[in-house]
Amino acid sequence: MKNRIQSAIAGSLPKPIWLAEPEKLWAPWRFEGDSLREAKTDAMSVAVANQINAGIDVIGDGEQTRQHFVTTFIENQNGVDFKNKKVMRIRDRYDAEVPVVVDQITRGHAVFVEDAKILRSLTDKTLKFTLPGPMTLIDTLFDDYYKSRRELAWAFAEILNEEAKELVAAGIDVIQFDEPAFNVFFDDVKEWGISTLERAASGLTSKTAVHICYGYGIEANTKWKETLGDEWRQYENVFPLLAKSTIDQVSLECQNSRVPMEFIEMLRGKDIMVGAIDVASNQVETPEQVASVLRESLRYVDIEHLYACTNCGMVPLSRQVADGKLRSLAAGTALLNAELGL
Ligand SMILES: [Zn+2]
Repeated sequence: MKNRIQSAIAGSLPKPIWLAEPEKLWAPWRFEGDSLREAKTDAMSVAVANQINAGIDVIGDGEQTRQHFVTTFIENQNGVDFKNKKVMRIRDRYDAEVPVVVDQITRGHAVFVEDAKILRSLTDKTLKFTLPGPMTLIDTLFDDYYKSRRELAWAFAEILNEEAKELVAAGIDVIQFDEPAFNVFFDDVKEWGISTLERAASGLTSKTAVHICYGYGIEANTKWKETLGDEWRQYENVFPLLAKSTIDQVSLECQNSRVPMEFIEMLRGKDIMVGAIDVASNQVETPEQVASVLRESLRYVDIEHLYACTNCGMVPLSRQVADGKLRSLAAGTALLNAELGL
């Protein structure tokens, strides 16, 4: 008998009201020091319990301990000045004040390894941990030192690899690198993006994954999506390259998305995390809507390679909506499993 199709979240979940302001990206913490440490640990416990109660199979920390998925990692390394920021254009979509690379990038200290140990103590289920991918990491940095995006990204890939190896040693089963920048800089992806990602994932004994996406449901992203036309064909540039890469799993968004689903075919042989939950809508999908997307994806992916997932992270949503979506993701996956006799 074939294995059941498993469900997983892309990464983030809403934070509890006592940890940070709800429904806000990059919300500041409510506490400091030991109190913050304790609040974060409690939030991880709640995130894990919510996933397990909903019936999710592959469990994550819901990114409860990071304020921002890029800066939380970078601010723990050496070589970046966070005090004297410079303004730069991000992915041609918006201006932001960003930290400046002023020296050689070297590892400061482990960022998430203690979190991973706590996560491992909370459940025996399969664990996935997310890290920013090298290209996405450097996308919001002003480089005053390397003067080469490729070299800067490589320096971070080496540090990410060290962190990832320690996460695996702490008991993580899947390391996922988030690379939304892969959807924008196609020439760079081809020239150095894939090899740099592979460097970050090299030597890992866990499964490795990459999450590329069209982002959270925030205004800048929604406006960008409006310019992309009836079909979102961005993945067409990247999937053939990922198919030949060492990365085991690839995610894509399929619920309420204009991505042609047949693109999955380009990744034959890889594990596919099919996004069956729209994170840019407060409408909670029904289990049947989830099952329907997954069912359709089976035209392009073998059952043993299919994972049910969310389109992207759910941190900007209310806890109630996110919880409903978790339950529908698990229930929809169960529906299809039952239908297939798994
Ligand atoms: Zn995403």
